[in-house]
Amino acid sequence: MLQQTQVATVIPYYHRFMESFPTINDLANAEEDVVLHHWTGLGYYARARNLHKAAKIIQQDYHGKFPENIEQVIALPGIGRSTAGAILSLSLNQHHPILDGNVKRVLARSYVVEGYNGLTKFDKALWQLSEQLTPAIETASFNQAMMDLGATVCTRSKPTCEVCPVESACLANASDQQANFPQKKPKKTIPEKSTIMIIPRLRQSLNDHLTNKATSKHSTKYSTKVLMEKRPPAGIWGGLWCFYEVSSTRDIPKQLKQLSLKAISEQTLPTFRHTFSHFHLDITPIVIDCEMLTTEQSVAIAEPNQQTWYDLHQPLDVGLAASTKKLLSLLTKNINDTGESHQTI
Ligand code: SF4
Repeated sequence: MLQQTQVATVIPYYHRFMESFPTINDLANAEEDVVLHHWTGLGYYARARNLHKAAKIIQQDYHGKFPENIEQVIALPGIGRSTAGAILSLSLNQHHPILDGNVKRVLARSYVVEGYNGLTKFDKALWQLSEQLTPAIETASFNQAMMDLGATVCTRSKPTCEVCPVESACLANASDQQANFPQKKPKKTIPEKSTIMIIPRLRQSLNDHLTNKATSKHSTKYSTKVLMEKRPPAGIWGGLWCFYEVSSTRDIPKQLKQLSLKAISEQTLPTFRHTFSHFHLDITPIVIDCEMLTTEQSVAIAEPNQQTWYDLHQPLDVGLAASTKKLLSLLTKNINDTGESHQTI
């Protein structure tokens, strides 16, 4: 969880996760949807999928006991050399160097190593330094101290060199060049993409409508259920629940037909931007009030367990993409503000 996310954000997620999955076997036996649900809001969902996959491998190949050999740990999904070194040195005091972002910064400054994170030559030089410096005794204390030094003293923008234990040996400090190490990664322009998300909402039957007095002043009542799909395991939002995407509004009737639905009316909501690490995605949501097609009219092709009518009043324990969560809050707010789901969202 702490890869890419700050401690303060992680803490409540960590507690909930550990309560639900206190052992490797509990995690391995859980449904992927339930695991992803515990991750909803943290982002970088590959971490959750990898944890889940790793737990299954440990259950099957290592009888549920975490491996203690570094090659076996690195072979688990989502664990690289530095994470494996940290796990084995901190838990078992094994002699392995580490090189997370904090350690990189301390080493790059102390030895004025030219380059930036991700540059092969730079990473290689830092790994060599970490190997040379990491002691065979008290490795756990050393590695923890290096990470803490980078996180609390040798910080990115304002290193407090005056309290640093390596102040007198640090070359960047001696030449007052702390801000130049590590160098900034050359900026790449992130491409922009766009998509349309359709939010089918079902019109309730006339009987339902007439029996509900609260709705009598409205001519039509729409259900609080919206249709969404589970994304395939690979690709963006892999394994998460999302609204259906179409590349053009022309594709909407065909998409609805495949879902056994017919549009009665639709409302386009303002476009919003979701930024991934490698591109911006501009999402235009369209709420479509629908009725079901008869069996003869339908050309439904979706797998039943890959789609669900999500009830805004009874949220499901499933993993939701950040954009889906945002749209669900908007739809739920509309219901809470007005007492029911209206055509004017
Ligand atoms: Fe970082 Fe300053 Fe310590 Fe050097 S002396 S490692 S720049 S905090």
